[in-house]
Amino acid sequence: MSVQVVAAKMAEVDLKDVPTGKDLPAGSPMTPTSDGKKIPRNDPHEAGTSPMAEPSVKPGEGSLGLLTPNPAKMPQASAMKRPDPQQNGGEAFVNRDGTVAEAPRMKKIQFADQKQEFNKRPSKIGRRSLSRSISQSSTDSYSSAASYTDSSDDETSPRDKQQKNSKGNGDFCIKNIKQADFGRREIEIAEQEMPALMALRKRAQGEKPLAGAKVVGCTHITAQTAVLMETLSALGAQCRWAACNIYSTQNEVAAALAEGGFSVFAWKGESEDDFWWCIDRCVNVEGWQPNMILDDGGDLTHWIYKKYPNMFKKIKGIVEESVTGVHRLYQLSKAGKLCVPAMNVNDSVTKQKFDNLYCCRESILDGLKRTTDVMFGGKQVVVCGYGEVGKGCCAALKAMGSIVYVTEIDPICALQACMDGFRLVKLNEVIRQVDIVITCTGNKNVVVRENLDRMKNSCIVCNMGHSNTEIDVASLRTPELTWERVRSQVDHVIWPDGKRIVLLAEGRLLNLSCSTVPTFVLSITATTQALALIELYNAPEGRYKQDVYLLPKKMDEYVASLHLPTFDAHLTELSDEQAKYLGLNKNGPFKPNYYRY
Ligand code: NAD
Repeated sequence: MSVQVVAAKMAEVDLKDVPTGKDLPAGSPMTPTSDGKKIPRNDPHEAGTSPMAEPSVKPGEGSLGLLTPNPAKMPQASAMKRPDPQQNGGEAFVNRDGTVAEAPRMKKIQFADQKQEFNKRPSKIGRRSLSRSISQSSTDSYSSAASYTDSSDDETSPRDKQQKNSKGNGDFCIKNIKQADFGRREIEIAEQEMPALMALRKRAQGEKPLAGAKVVGCTHITAQTAVLMETLSALGAQCRWAACNIYSTQNEVAAALAEGGFSVFAWKGESEDDFWWCIDRCVNVEGWQPNMILDDGGDLTHWIYKKYPNMFKKIKGIVEESVTGVHRLYQLSKAGKLCVPAMNVNDSVTKQKFDNLYCCRESILDGLKRTTDVMFGGKQVVVCGYGEVGKGCCAALKAMGSIVYVTEIDPICALQACMDGFRLVKLNEVIRQVDIVITCTGNKNVVVRENLDRMKNSCIVCNMGHSNTEIDVASLRTPELTWERVRSQVDHVIWPDGKRIVLLAEGRLLNLSCSTVPTFVLSITATTQALALIELYNAPEGRYKQDVYLLPKKMDEYVASLHLPTFDAHLTELSDEQAKYLGLNKNGPFKPNYYRY
C-alpha cells in the first residue's frame, strides 16, 4: 500500500489534493553565503541566515502534507529538557509523593574513546549516587513525573536479574516485571490526556504507515512515552528503547512495556555505566538493525555515530526532541558530518507554544503553590520578560487576582504588556514593594545582589526562564547571609537584620524543579514526534537531504487539529471562493512560514 493511501486514509483527505513525490521540487536547504560557501539555512547559530530550513518540498507539503485533515470530517476524540536550554545546570525531578530527586548536572558527553567497559560494574553506591553526573542527556526536555513506585528496597541491579514476561520473552532490562499491572494503569490514565495519539491509532484503521520501521528510541520513559511507543507499534513499527535520563524512568511503566513485548532497557537511578549499557543493548543486537532514530538529548545518535557508524547506511532519519540534541545536529550538519536527514521537532510551532506559553501559564502557579502555599490574590508580583513564558506567567497571576508588574527591554513586548493591562516598570521601581519576583527572560543576571538587598521581608524569588543564570544566586553565598533549607527546593536567605527572602529551586527552573508537566503538553510533543517519524520514514527519495529540517507547517497544523476534538471544537472550513481569495489550499497550510502566532 502506498504511503499516500495510508496517510490519506488516516487523515481522511481528498487524494486529489495529495502531491506525489515526483510532483515535489527538489530544492536544497543550503543557502549560499556571500563568500560562496554553503551553509544550512536552518542553522540558527549562523548570523544572517534564515533561522530554519524547510524541507525541499512545496511549502507545507511533506509526506504528512497527506495527513491534512478535512476539518469537517474530524472525528471526536474518545476520550505525553523542553526547551530548557539549561546546558549547565542540573534540575530536579519531583516524585508524585513530593520527594525530590536531583537530576544530574550536565557535562559534555564523554565517549572515553569508546572504552566502555560494561563488565566493569560500578559499586552499589556509585549506582545510587544522586550527585553523579552523566552524559549530556536530556534534562532539557520534559519528563512529567518520576516513578513513585521506587522499589529501592530491592538493591539488586536489573543487570544482575534474569527476568521474563508472561510470554517468556526476556529481551528487556528493567527494575521489576512484577510492577507491570500498576504501570498499565498509569499508561491508561495518560491515554486519557493524549487524544491525538489515540486518534492516530484509530485513523490508521489497520493500515501501517510505519510497517517495516525499526525505531530505536532514547527518551524519558514515562507513561506518556509508553502511549507514544504503543502508538508507533500500532502503526507498524518495531521499537527498542532506552532512557535519556538516569532518574526519570517510571519503573512500573517500563515493566508494563516489557510485559507488552517491548524491548526496554531502563530503570530509575541508573549509573552512568548503566546508561550507556542500556543504549548499547538497544542498538547492538543480533538480527535487528534500526532504520529510524528518535532521540531526546542526542546521546543515542552520538553513540551510534561513534560506535556503529555503518548503521547509518540503513537509517532513514533522526527525529530529535531537545534543544541540546538539535544543537548537536546543526553542528554535525555544519561540519558536513550529518549522514541522514534529521527532523528538529523541538522548534515546531505547536510544541513551542505549548512548552513556553501554555505550560508556563499552568505551572507557575503550581510551582509556587507547592513550595510556598502562597495565596495569590492581592499579591504584588513583578515578572521580568514579557515573551512567551512571561506572558503565560502574567496571565495566570492576573487571573488569580495578583497585581502584576512587567519589566522588558524590547519596546514591542513592552507595548504588548501595556495593552494587556500590565504596568511596565523598571525593576528598581517596584523591588521594595513586591511579594514575588519571577524571571522569564532567557538572559543572565536579571536579578542581582543589589535587587535582592532591597527586597522586602518574605519576598519570594524564582526563575522560569533560562537555566540558573537569571538570578545571581552566587552573590547570595556570602558570609553575612545565612541560608536555611526550610523545605525541599525552598531556601530562606537571611540578612543580618533578620530580613529573609524565599529562594525557590536555588534559581533553577521553578516548574521543572517543583511541579509536574501536564500530560496534554506531552501529548503535543509525542504527536509531533510520531508524525515526524512517519514523514521521514515515508518521504520519497530526495525529498530530504542530509540536513536538519523543521516539521512541515502542514504537519504542525495537523498536530493541532488532532487535539481539537477534545474540546468539541468546530473548525471552520474555507469555501472554494475564500480559499481562492486568500490563495490558500483548503487543507492548508494556512499560514506562511514567517507568520508569528
Ligand atoms: P522570549 O524571547 O519570547 O521572551 C524573553 C523576553 O525577555 C523577551 O521579550 C526579551 O526582550 C526579554 N528580556 C531579555 N532580557 C531582559 C531583561 N534584562 N529584562 C527584562 N526583559 C528582558 O523567550 P520565551 O519563550 O519567553 O522563553 C524565555 C526563557 O524561558 C528561555 O530561556 C526559554 O528557554 C525558557 N523556557 C522555560 C520554560 C519553562 O518551562 N520554565 C519553557 C519554555 C522556555
